[in-house]
Amino acid sequence: MTEFDIIRRYFDRAPNRALLGVGDDCALVRPNAGLELALTTDMLVEGRHFSADAAPRSLGHKALAVNLSDLAAMGAAPRWALLALGLPSADGAWLEAFSAGFYALADRYGVELIGGDTTRSPLRTISIVALGEVPAGVAMYRSAAKPGDDVWISGELGGAALALRRPDIAAVAKRLHEPEPRVELGERLRGLAHAAIDISDGLTGDLGHVLERSQVAALLDYERIPRPAALRALGDRELERDCVLSGGDDYELAFTASPRRREALDALSAELGLPLTRIGTIEAGQPKLVARDADGQPIAYRASYDHFRGRP
Ligand code: ADP
Ligand code: MG
Repeated sequence: MTEFDIIRRYFDRAPNRALLGVGDDCALVRPNAGLELALTTDMLVEGRHFSADAAPRSLGHKALAVNLSDLAAMGAAPRWALLALGLPSADGAWLEAFSAGFYALADRYGVELIGGDTTRSPLRTISIVALGEVPAGVAMYRSAAKPGDDVWISGELGGAALALRRPDIAAVAKRLHEPEPRVELGERLRGLAHAAIDISDGLTGDLGHVLERSQVAALLDYERIPRPAALRALGDRELERDCVLSGGDDYELAFTASPRRREALDALSAELGLPLTRIGTIEAGQPKLVARDADGQPIAYRASYDHFRGRP
């Protein structure tokens, strides 16, 4: 297969919503009047984010999912994506499975692949640009948390970090390899939440970005944070704390909202069939996050993942 065989065979589908998709020097989109375009990009690199033998179908899903998760954290509806692929060889079976995983997720949310780049590379690299739309003025900024807000989290935390350390525990494997971007939630939080962020590097670190940007503090009740039953069942309190507070890759949304929104958020949770849990409060003060245990004592936690610092 040549470069252009690869594109034609696996990544060229006619778009509906875009004016021009794959096949020209640029794609063309026309954002709707009154909407803002949200743009984000995330890259996955072999040996860093996934192993050479990682299931290609899951990779196709995850590479798109992590980008849709960023759009969700802004309250944007996903629309279009560009895919830049570096591959050591034109492996048809790999490309078939990868593109199937990609399009399965893309189709669920009406995301159109409208361009990209394909190149030979010693290691596989997958880089996606995702574009979304959000009504003007309602995107959820990290800087919007206010003292007195509740801190909420969707779903459960710690599953992906557990899967990384314990590949033998089937109950959490999907959390790591095929994360579910909280697209519907992100859109429905418009006008309800103040600040929002998706949990890619770990709760304490990611929420720390919100505190920094908003110049506020947060007090979390550790025991309120939902976690997978498989994690509790291990009975390793230290591992549990580490996965829940500092583990990355869960792609849940953390957000802040006025206490007046509690009923609306509980109703939204029931409607979406997705747990939304209040785990703490935003307070006035210097950016600082305290997680306290059931006795009210602060818990020591590890900094979140940083590509250039590594795990402390
Ligand atoms: P150019 O040289 O102008 O950048 P290319 O010849 O690299 O364009 O690509 C041809 C067309 O195929 C372009 O529309 C490009 O966006 C698209 N394309 C290339 N690789 C991919 C891919 N992996 N997925 C989707 N579209 C792709
Ligand atoms: Mg060109």
